[in-house]
Amino acid sequence: MTHNHQPDLGTTLEQSRSGLRDNHRRSLARLMFLVSGTSLSVFACLQFFNGFPWVSLAELLASGILFYGASRVLTTGRFQQWLYVYLVFNFSFFLVIMLLPDASVSAFVWVLMMPVLAYLLLGKREGMILSVPFMLLGGVVYYLHLGNVGSAHRMIDLINMVLCGALMQVFMHMYEARREEAEQRLIDTAQTDALTGLANRACFQSILARTIAECDCSGTGFALVIMDIDHFKLVNDTLGHDAGDQVLRSIGQCLKERLRSTDSVGRLGGEEFGLILRDVRPPDAFELMEALRKRIASRELSYGDASIRVTASFGIAQWPDSGREAQVLFQVADKYLYHGKRAGRNRVAQAGAAPESEDLAPEAGG
Ligand code: GH3
Ligand code: MG
Ligand code: MG
Repeated sequence: MTHNHQPDLGTTLEQSRSGLRDNHRRSLARLMFLVSGTSLSVFACLQFFNGFPWVSLAELLASGILFYGASRVLTTGRFQQWLYVYLVFNFSFFLVIMLLPDASVSAFVWVLMMPVLAYLLLGKREGMILSVPFMLLGGVVYYLHLGNVGSAHRMIDLINMVLCGALMQVFMHMYEARREEAEQRLIDTAQTDALTGLANRACFQSILARTIAECDCSGTGFALVIMDIDHFKLVNDTLGHDAGDQVLRSIGQCLKERLRSTDSVGRLGGEEFGLILRDVRPPDAFELMEALRKRIASRELSYGDASIRVTASFGIAQWPDSGREAQVLFQVADKYLYHGKRAGRNRVAQAGAAPESEDLAPEAGG
């Protein structure tokens, strides 16, 4: 049995924030920093020759900061702070250039970039919080710029810009909201076992990797349990595959109900389930699994006229006593599971409490 580490989709989602993954957001931010820095350098030269040396100096300074930012943004731990500073300054700059007495009407197109940048770089919630006030301010500044809106011509200018800005904001928001929902559904599907609704194997392995990392920091222990239904093939053979599926669903439900909120459970494949019990010492893990074993053995499932009872065997590995790595823990839990199977099934086995000699090699299959 191999236990390859799968990419952790949950963590990837947490990092993604917007439609872009973290590394793509960083690349986009870097591009924006470079473009803004270069434009500001050009503006600084023009302002200098226009006779505004202080404006020129300020722009040169800002472009220097942007180039420095571009060199850091791919790796910095303060990416979010960099983004906020950049976007707030950038949006303020858009507003300021519109306030200049001889501002061209074309300068107002930059306002329409605000929701696009905010939603792409910050995601739905934070993108909205940042872009809405700036869009409103942009509207006010444009209104002031137009001066007298009494004429039909000015009124058309105003309505054009306000309508376009409002639609841009609404479209970006709707797009981002739908995209987030679709991504969440996709991730749920990719992480869930369709039959039982439990975490699937890949997701369970990600949870295990995360648990190991967390326990490494906190110094607390946990137990990895592999549970396998005994003689499950008999259920399929005697009552049919559908009855087998019902049993798997019922056992999955039982596991969900019985575990504490800090514990995790997943279906590893076939009729094999994995459990992670947080903050337990070996005797506690044994007791918890003994209670679960008894509960499963006493559970009765009606299927048509038939009544189905199954038992299960459990192998427990303890972190860090049995090993520190996921793969070793799986091997140890597997080993004790098959000790339990060979000792007659319907039992819990762990180090120091294995029902049979430890020399027994695990059976093939399962
Ligand atoms: P043991 O006590 O040694 O574990 O015996 P077992 O019969 O439980 O184990 P075995 O590996 O021989 O058989 C497992 C069976 O589980 C075979 C396979 O057809 C069945 N199975 C695997 N996945 C599913 C599923 O999703 N639905 C159903 N109904 N059966 C499944
Ligand atoms: Mg089995
Ligand atoms: Mg099996």
